[in-house]
Amino acid sequence: MGSGQVTAWNGKNITVAGLGVSGISAARALAGLGAVVTVVDGGDSEGHRARAAELGELGISVRLGDAETLPEGTDLVVTSPGWKPDSPLFAAAAAAGVDVVGDVEIAWQLRGENAAPWLAITGTNGKTTTTQMLASILRAAGLRTAAVGNIGTPIIDVVTGAEQYDVLAVELSSYQLHWAPSVRAHSAAVLNLAPDHLDWHGTMEAYAADKGRIYEGNTVACVYNVGDKATEDLVVEADVEEGCRAIGFTLGAPGPSMLGVVDGILIDRAFVENRQKNAQELAEVSDVDPPAPHNIANALAAAALARAFGVEPRAVRDGLRNFRPDAHRIAYVAEVEGVTYIDDSKATNTHAAEASLAAYEPVVWIAGGLAKGATFDELVTRSAKRLRGAVLIGADRALIRDALARHAPEVPVVELERTDTGAMLAAVREAARLAEPGDTVLLAPACASMDMFANYNKRGDAFADAVRELAAAGA
Ligand code: ADP
Repeated sequence: MGSGQVTAWNGKNITVAGLGVSGISAARALAGLGAVVTVVDGGDSEGHRARAAELGELGISVRLGDAETLPEGTDLVVTSPGWKPDSPLFAAAAAAGVDVVGDVEIAWQLRGENAAPWLAITGTNGKTTTTQMLASILRAAGLRTAAVGNIGTPIIDVVTGAEQYDVLAVELSSYQLHWAPSVRAHSAAVLNLAPDHLDWHGTMEAYAADKGRIYEGNTVACVYNVGDKATEDLVVEADVEEGCRAIGFTLGAPGPSMLGVVDGILIDRAFVENRQKNAQELAEVSDVDPPAPHNIANALAAAALARAFGVEPRAVRDGLRNFRPDAHRIAYVAEVEGVTYIDDSKATNTHAAEASLAAYEPVVWIAGGLAKGATFDELVTRSAKRLRGAVLIGADRALIRDALARHAPEVPVVELERTDTGAMLAAVREAARLAEPGDTVLLAPACASMDMFANYNKRGDAFADAVRELAAAGA
């Protein structure tokens, strides 16, 4: 790190909002540069106090039980991604003329000289998967890289740590983009855009505008989804460096300056010489795990960013082959009596569930949980013809039941009221009853899990356990 940056932070009064992983990382890094740091958090549990004591040893003050008032003399607020923009602390900052930024912005500002460029990814769904695919491709190309941002080691720790990188694969949530005004990626992709987190952003326009920030100042490529015009609109609106190109990805045959699919082959018509006439084969659809349509789209986006960075076709193929998705993302669980059971507990919104349902037919769909303000009419209308049946669980199941009644009255629906630990086993049993050999039973809840489970991991585990119990009972 250059000494200029040390001077810039020395003695600055910084308030960090949130005593979580990213807040602690920001507090430590900034205190290390001589800033006077106060972390504020509304909580005041034993866990909070233990973390506060640890930070205290580093000379960092922690104020617990008050997340709302701005500490006297604050020069800058650094927020954790989860804090809503209408939080009283930010209103207080605005009133005092104090800027608010996020941990990603701080990471960007703390990058050393010759820092690794960022290849950035956002979207409503597929961010983590695509970022990991990209990192896998970059590694296959022999580059020193890490998948960071919304995943893995806190991004501030990575950019200020001792390890050197050639390039970073950076997942950015809409929250992080909202608070990161000066980030300028080498190239960036917006995978898709569907209503989500509107309780945080207020409106779809505000959500889209935050996602679109990722293209600002790109130098080589803005990667968009040909099948999702909203992503292309964001490219058109973005202010990029001269010579930066718009690159589309599509599940169909690619036009010039696009990546796409022809006869089961992933094709590049963007990063080739004479793209009017030439195309480059990158990999086969079967190299991608799972080869579901939305995941092929993720692979194309990752490939586009890697190609923008100059990665050879062979490394794209090897990187995709080496990649395995995280748990609970279209994970195969078992086949029981000719029926395949798939866990996509991570499908926590309607857009993800729709992508997941599109990969199977006929399908018995297990869904429900906390709807987060979503409506289900579109999802049900588009997926109705694939459904053998539906089993609904969780707090907001009536919303899905009513949408099914409106748009797919012929589909048999079982509703489960129980929310105890045995509920998932009951749901799986009902699904097994509806399914016929050759069908898929798919857990793709389209809802958050917290009404019945600690998180989506636990929900997926409960599903897998239930399937195994079903298999054992049948054997
Ligand atoms: P994110 O990090 O954006 O939450 P993940 O990669 O963790 O995304 O995937 C979350 C869920 O979204 C998956 O379980 C799958 O159901 C769905 N999904 C993944 N990629 C896509 C995509 N390109 N389009 C639609 N849904 C997707």
